[in-house]
Formats: sequence, C-alpha cells, structure tokens
Amino acid sequence: MVHKDYTKYTPMMQQYLKTKDAYPDCLLFFRLGDFFELFFEDAKIASRELDITLTKRGKTEDTNIPMCGVPYHVADQYLAKLVAKGYRVAICDQVEDPKEAQGIVKREVIRVVTPGTFTNEAYLKKDENRYICAIQFIESSAALVFLDYSTGEFFSLENFFQDEDQAILWIQDQIATYDPKEILIHPDLLERLEFMNEKISIQVVDDFMVQKKLSITKELEESFFKLNMRHPLSYSTAIFLLNYISLTQKTNMDHILEIIPVDSGEELILDETAKKNLELFETLGRGDQEGSLYHVLNKNQTSMGARLLRYWINHPLRDPNKINQRLDFVELLFNDLIFLDQIKTSLKDVYDLKRLSVKIATGSISPRDLICLKNTLLTSKDLEEKLLASQKPECLKFVSNFPDLSDLINLIENTLIEDAPVLITDTIFIKQGVDEQLDQLIDARTHGKKWLIDLEKKEKEKTGIKNLRIKYNKILGYFIEVTKSNADAVPDYYLRKQTLVGSERFFTIELKEMESQILGSKDESLSLQSSIFLNLKNKTKDYLSRIQYTAQKIAELDIYSSFASLAHSYGYVRPLIQEDQVLEIKEGRHPMVEANQAFELFVPNDTYLNQNDEMIALITGPNMAGKSTYMRQVALICILAHIGSFVPASQAKIPPIDRIFTRIGASDNLSGGESTFMVEMKEVATITKEATSQSLVILDEVGRGTGTFDGLSIAWALIEYIAKEIKAKTLFATHYLELIPLADRIPGLVNLTVLTEENEHGISFLRKISHGYSNQSFGIDVAQLAGIDPRLIQRAKEIFLKLKADEKEKTPSLPPLYEKKEDKVFDKEEDYTNILKKLARIDLLSQTPLETLTQVQNLQIEVKEVLNDTSTDK
Ligand code: ADP
Repeated sequence: MVHKDYTKYTPMMQQYLKTKDAYPDCLLFFRLGDFFELFFEDAKIASRELDITLTKRGKTEDTNIPMCGVPYHVADQYLAKLVAKGYRVAICDQVEDPKEAQGIVKREVIRVVTPGTFTNEAYLKKDENRYICAIQFIESSAALVFLDYSTGEFFSLENFFQDEDQAILWIQDQIATYDPKEILIHPDLLERLEFMNEKISIQVVDDFMVQKKLSITKELEESFFKLNMRHPLSYSTAIFLLNYISLTQKTNMDHILEIIPVDSGEELILDETAKKNLELFETLGRGDQEGSLYHVLNKNQTSMGARLLRYWINHPLRDPNKINQRLDFVELLFNDLIFLDQIKTSLKDVYDLKRLSVKIATGSISPRDLICLKNTLLTSKDLEEKLLASQKPECLKFVSNFPDLSDLINLIENTLIEDAPVLITDTIFIKQGVDEQLDQLIDARTHGKKWLIDLEKKEKEKTGIKNLRIKYNKILGYFIEVTKSNADAVPDYYLRKQTLVGSERFFTIELKEMESQILGSKDESLSLQSSIFLNLKNKTKDYLSRIQYTAQKIAELDIYSSFASLAHSYGYVRPLIQEDQVLEIKEGRHPMVEANQAFELFVPNDTYLNQNDEMIALITGPNMAGKSTYMRQVALICILAHIGSFVPASQAKIPPIDRIFTRIGASDNLSGGESTFMVEMKEVATITKEATSQSLVILDEVGRGTGTFDGLSIAWALIEYIAKEIKAKTLFATHYLELIPLADRIPGLVNLTVLTEENEHGISFLRKISHGYSNQSFGIDVAQLAGIDPRLIQRAKEIFLKLKADEKEKTPSLPPLYEKKEDKVFDKEEDYTNILKKLARIDLLSQTPLETLTQVQNLQIEVKEVLNDTSTDK
C-alpha cells in the first residue's frame, strides 16, 4: 500500500510513511526512543511472526493504527527470527542526537537486513556458511555466484550447456550444494527451477545491469579482473550481487578479498542425488546430521574448520598431487601424537576470525572482539612456531607464507586492557599511557572518588551522624543521605534535595562542584576512549587480508588434525592414490555404520574393481544381508580418499574418480509430481548420459518400480551398456537372479554375493561379501524375521514352491548379445578358442541342469555370431 496523502497524519507518522513507501517490500523497523516500532500491516505481521503484543498508536479516520515494537538493544534477536522466515527488514534509525534535534528527529534507513546478509554471529549456525546467490543463464551459459557476507568467502561457477535441461539440473545441484538463504534471479529462469528448500528468499531481478561504481578492495578488483577475462558472465553476476550488498548494507565490503572460480573439472563431482543417497550431510530417513559422514568426520576444534570441512566434502579433489599434499599433512600429524595433541590444544582457543572479519570491515567490532582477535593471532603465531620447530618439510611449506601480524598484536595489546567490554561506556578500557589527556581524566576520576570517601568521613565526624552516606544515582547525581532519626543533627549548609519515607537527601555547594568535575570527566573520557578505539578499529582494517589468510590456514590445519585424530580413533589408513584405474580395498568398512554400531561388530569386506575383467560387480543376496551398506562403503571410502582423509580399511588403492553416481532405493519425489519409477529412470538417464570410464556407479536395484519383465530388461540392458559403452566401475545390487548368468557373457562382469547361513531357525547374516552368487532371495525368511504372522509366511512358502516348480519346466531363451556394431572386429581363431575355453570350464557335476543349459545356449549364440560374421566375410 502506498500512502499518497500524508497530510492527515502527524508529522512523525508522515516521516514513517514516506520511509515505508521507499521500502515497500520490507518490514520497517522505525526507531522511537528505546524501541523499534512497526505500524499498520507490518505490525500485524511482526506481532504474528514474533509473538509480540499488538497495540495501537493514534488514529486515522477513526481507525486505530496497529503498532508493535521490540527493544532496540535486542533487535537482532527479532531480526534473526524474521530473516529465518524469509522477511527483509529495513532498519530506520535516528541519525541525529534527539537532544539536539529541532522538531522531529532525523531518521534514515541505515541498513536493510535480508536473509542472505544477516551477519550477527550469535544467531548464525557456527558450522554452516550463509550464502547469498545470484544466477544468470544467457544463451546456453549459466553462471552462479555465492557470497557468504558474514565471512567474505566468494565463489563463482560457470558452465556452457547444449542441453537446457542439463543446465537447469546443474543450477539446481549447485543451489542444493551451497544452500543459499537468498537468491537474486531473473523471473524467466525462476519459473524453470524447482526449489527444494522453500525457505529460500527470492529477489526477482529483471535487469542485471549496474551503473554505479562499486567501492571494493584492491585485492578483489584484481580477482575480478581475472574473472572477467575467463568468465564474463560470472563477472557481471558477481558485480550485480556486490551492488545489491552495497545498496542494502550501506557499508563497505573490505573483508571480501577475492572471488574463487570453482572448476568442476578439478573435482570429483557429486550431484545432489549422490550426496543424499550417501548421507554425506544428513541421514536418509530422518534427515539428522548425526549419522552422516560430516558428523563422523567433524572432529574440528574451530567453527572455521567445521565450515571448511563442509566445503571439502562438497568439493572433493581429483588431482592426485593435491590429494597427496593433504594426505602428507594428515600422515605427519598421525605419526606424531604429541605434536597432534599440542596443535589440537592450541586450536581450542581459536576464535572465529572469518566471522570477525565482517565486523572489522563494517566497523561493528567491539573492544572485547579485538582482544579475542589479538589472542587468536597470538595462538596462530604459536602454531606457526610449533610447525617451524618441527622442521618437517610439510610444516615448513605450510607456514612458508604465513602472514606476520605482530604489529597488529602489539597495537591491540598496547591499547586495550585484557578484559575489555563488549559495549563502550565510560568504564575505562584503554590502557594507561596510550593518551595523556585520558590519563589525566582518569586521574581526576580516581582523585574524585577518593575525595568523596574523605568527604563522607569528614562529614560524619563534623555532624556526629554515624550512618551518613554519600551516594549517587542518575537522576539526583551525588547526594548525602541521612536517616530521619538523625534529621536534627543536620547542619545548616546542607541543602535539601529529596525526602523519602525513612531518610532525607542533601547536597552541599562543595559536593555539587565536585560532581560536575567527576561527571564532566566521565563524559570526556567516554568520548576520548571512543575516538581512540575508532582509530584502532580503522588501523585493524589494514590487516584484513592477512587476517583472512590466517583464518584459512587455521581452518585447514584444524581439518588435518581432525582427520589425524579420526584415523587414530577408528583405525583408518592412508589410501594410495594411483592413476591405473584399479580400485582395491582390503577390509573396508562403512564409516558411519561402524561408528554407530554399539554392540554388533562391523564385518570388513574387500573390493576389487578394474577396467578390464572385473569392472562391474553384480551383487546378489537376501534383503538385509548388507548389500547397500557394502556399496555405499566403497563410494564413501573413495570420497574420503578424494578429500584427503585416511579411510576405514586395512589397505586402499584408489584411482582418481571424476564422478560418483548413485541410484539407491525408493527415492520418491511425489511432491514434485514424479513416481518412484520415473525418479529412478531419470537417475539412470543421468548415468548413461554422463558417466565415463573414470566414474564410480552405484546401482541398488534398478527396474523394481515397474513390471518384472520391463524392469529386468532395463537392468539387463543397462549392465550391457555400462560394460560396452561406458566402462565405468560399477557395483550393481539386484534381486533379478536372471542376471547372474550374464557374467559368462559379458566380459568385465563378475558375480558377488553376501554370505548367509541357513539353519533350522531360518537364515543368519554373515555380512561377508564373496565371489559367487546367491540363487535365492530369502525374501520370505526376512519377512519371517520381521514378525509377519506365521500362517501368512507358511502360505507364502507354499506359493513360492509352486511358482518355482512351474518355472523349472520352462526353458529360458536368451536374447542375442549386445554389440557395438562399429566396434565389432572378429578374430575367428581367437573367438573359437575363447568359446572352447568357456565350454571346458562348465562344471557339469556341481550345477543344476538349468544352469548348464543356459551356459550351453550362450555358447551356441556366440558360435552363431562368429559363423554369421565369417559368412559375410566370404
Ligand atoms: P541390504 O541392502 O542387503 O538389504 P543393508 O546394507 O541395508 O542390507 O544392511 C542391513 C543392516 O545390516 C544394516 O542396517 C547394517 O546395520 C547391517 N550391516 C550391513 N553390513 C554390515 C557389516 N559389514 N557388518 C555389520 N553390520 C552390517
């Protein structure tokens, strides 16, 4: 609602309405005395959302104006709640001293608080970044920039797409990864995106052009220059975002020192499906953080380390050299427990330097914060010395460009007392010797206090009133208090100030004079201290880039020591990262299942996958046997290795992996209007389009959401396609026992199974993966374990036996082998030799007639193919 006709309102209300009209999409916090007040519709919203009482102030045309308010000194508490609900709030404060104002106090909007720019660390999650994002998608190029204004971390991503749907998927994946609280986006693009997190606040932007020149740091300017050369679309998006920050925050951005272009070609890519399925940040069922990989890994001492760990898990490395650099450091700490312990102890005292940096930049840092900064810098110096003293090459390299911040440490140490306050009042927090004038004032105050004590003593003696007291309060100032019973002994030169029930209060000329001296010195010392502190704050700004760099180094060191501790606690080993595309894990374990299992011991399992004869493992075995756990464990071990952590195994050789794909379980997206089967097929589509020979593919049941033959055919064709076309290392768990014989037909496919034991009570799970296959699903046995009525179980068993008997009578006929036509080069002799070898390997004694028949039939198909081909040769 725009309030055109202001005249019917009081002058103050007119001031409110004019301001509100300039910020129509924000709630307006309007400073009145000690409160921020909201009026009209804003008041109704705030009262509902914040659960505060709705009152009224004045009237327009006989209707009351709704009003509610929050005390200004705790406003952030309410702002935190409002931004969490997606609101934007314009803060309209008094910009002149009300005592000096003529007429209405001047008020202006000093800041607009938005979900993506709220920075009060008391209300931010310590281990999560809070990003604001801007997105552009123009002519097949998509650019996203993410800024955490509370820490100054700034990233850009840009990609070119031939297929628009792919672009949309990519954009959504990035949004899910960074989880921004606010997004600036063009309406056309907005329409095409689906947001999983409905709490994201959306700012629709019709035009990303900016006219205004921004005031940014020199470092950022250089970084922007480079970005513009390589990614002009990211550049313009980033400039637009900073412009938005500058418009809303109305302050400088000196803590933003660089923008980092994220190159997905250098990372192991994990899409949103993989992150969810592998429970990297939250569990699948309840969405808890406990039980996730992040939760197991996060042994960090600092919030900076915890946040960086999130980033590392989201962006595993691909370059073996970079991975090994991280592993080297972890190994070094792992091998020296005393050193590790020293470092961890030092890290405990570290303050969140990154979140402090925004306060330094915007000038909102408190004296207490600066003391914390100084102490953290001292700790960082101590860490640097420890690393240097170790003389180890990795440590020397790590500290080689550690910035020197001794000047700043000295500056703060020499200026502020150690228990400096959060709020600046007249309490002395500047050290003696910093400012001569201040020292004199402090002297006068100390002198004044002593003078008062002496006066009290003197007056007691003079009047003989034993309980005479000199007191102070804000309204009366200093006064002499005498109880009523002593009223007669009060001398003439006492001048009455106030009469209370049991006592009388007086002043003397002498006392009044001293009062103005003491109070004057209080005011003066307050303003002197403020200006000394302002000076100190400004000088601190010069050190921002060094502080940011130190913060980054501390966060890294924190993760390394966290990884080393983790490796000790759970018995992890250093993985060998090697290029030969062989994945070999000895006695691997699932990091989260292992960590959460209190009673049952985790059974370790081996894995071997290569690019030739053991590329795809088809895993059969009953439900609950441990197939999913096993497959996830392999993927998780690969991720751990790629972020530079040790892994839960006794030995691991891990090749560089470009992407991990998962298709696991029933992940319905019914709210998105898709059935389980559709979701499943979309996941399979992504795999077939994007997997390469360097990918790891995890498939837990494919084709279960449709008719048996459709599902089986898709699963079958998919295995063939991966084996022939993609050649990705693949783990494929299935209940389609019909797929088992494929191992004889498809080179690279092997059968694995999870061992079980059958006894008179049913089956028990051994959790051991072995070569071979299980030709039973044991579904009914598992149903029995789950406690289904025995009569139902008995009937299911009868039906099962009947169906099985019927099936045995049928002879399965297999489709011809999948071949890539253009690849088909026959070598007659070699083909025949291979077929004969396979024939010789058939074990007639131990297998069923049906299995023998299937194998012979396969061989027959192969022979026919070679014959056909030879005939065309003639
Ligand atoms: P499946 O996929 O075969 O149905 P799961 O992988 O879901 O079976 O495993 C079932 C349960 O067995 C899991 O909840 C896990 O706690 C336990 N489990 C799986 N693998 C192991 C193992 N190697 N050692 C110990 N417990 C295991």
